Amino acid sequence: MAYEVDYIPVDGGEKSGDAIVLRFGNLNGQRSEQSIVVIDGGFKDSGELLVEHIGKYYGTDQVDLVISTHPDEDHISGLSVVLEKLKVGGLLMHKPWDHAADIKSFFKNKSITVSGLEKRIEKSLQYASDLEDLATKKNISVFEPFQGLKLGGESVHVLAPSSDYYESLLPSFRSTPQPKAEFDILTQLRKPAGEAVKWIQDHIGIDLLNDDDDTTSPENNSSTIILFTVDDHKLLFTGDAGKTALLNAITYASSLGINLADLRFLDVPHHGSKRNLNSKILKRIKGDTAFVSASKDSKKHPARKVTNALQKHGMAVFVTRGGPLLHHNGGSERGWFNATPEPFHVLVEE
Ligand SMILES: [Zn+2]
Repeated sequence: MAYEVDYIPVDGGEKSGDAIVLRFGNLNGQRSEQSIVVIDGGFKDSGELLVEHIGKYYGTDQVDLVISTHPDEDHISGLSVVLEKLKVGGLLMHKPWDHAADIKSFFKNKSITVSGLEKRIEKSLQYASDLEDLATKKNISVFEPFQGLKLGGESVHVLAPSSDYYESLLPSFRSTPQPKAEFDILTQLRKPAGEAVKWIQDHIGIDLLNDDDDTTSPENNSSTIILFTVDDHKLLFTGDAGKTALLNAITYASSLGINLADLRFLDVPHHGSKRNLNSKILKRIKGDTAFVSASKDSKKHPARKVTNALQKHGMAVFVTRGGPLLHHNGGSERGWFNATPEPFHVLVEE
């Protein structure tokens, strides 16, 4: 089977985002011999570009599956355009408000009601709740992507989050009331991004990605991590997942005997942020080609020490920088140029 992975330009000024679409099957055959899956839609403009792209290059207005990895605007807001303008077979997204009853006891304020909590979460995660409403209006089935879910035979496999881990993150989402102290560890980890960058030298023989702390937000760690298997080619998509979430995915995959160190393709988590990967993870998750979706004007995405580390682990790294990127195996001819891989940077952020 052939496949194409298209990264659609996302332009959020300094803000990066993800808008990705995959097509696999008999790419020269009928639409019915192919599967099309959208993973995140970036901002509204990228949602428009996604729709255009699917029409122009895939020649269809039908998408089999839309996946929203997590509720942050730079990933989810463009999906409403996709649901509005295309025929969508199903939507995978978490519905945090549906977990209100399970997590009610995690909060300090004992008088909070389940319906009060539901409303509060829905209001603060407006993009996500609007997307669910739109899906309902359009009769599109919505499923929550938790660890172990498989679709299309074995071709789509959700490696993380588990439902327990997801619920442990929810009390620390920006929207929720103040959690009890024992559930408040994640909130304390939100650190402001430092402004001044100090540069240090990197070298192929040293390991600069050796920090085990997880300072990623709970929302990012709730990202759906999905493995696509097309014939024997493995493609891994990570949303904005942090180290804890990625390690959970590794543990789960290895319990099933799935090796993530021989991927064909890796979607680098969180636009190449230095907070989301370390060498321990890169020993277990690696492959031939890695893509980073980052805006042209982003100051922190991707971190040079991350693109260097990916290269140290044997990957060819490509960064969107606000443009389109295509990775394919037997894809259709478009007359596009070969992309230039990211160079190894001698100076990196400290
Ligand atoms: Zn993001």
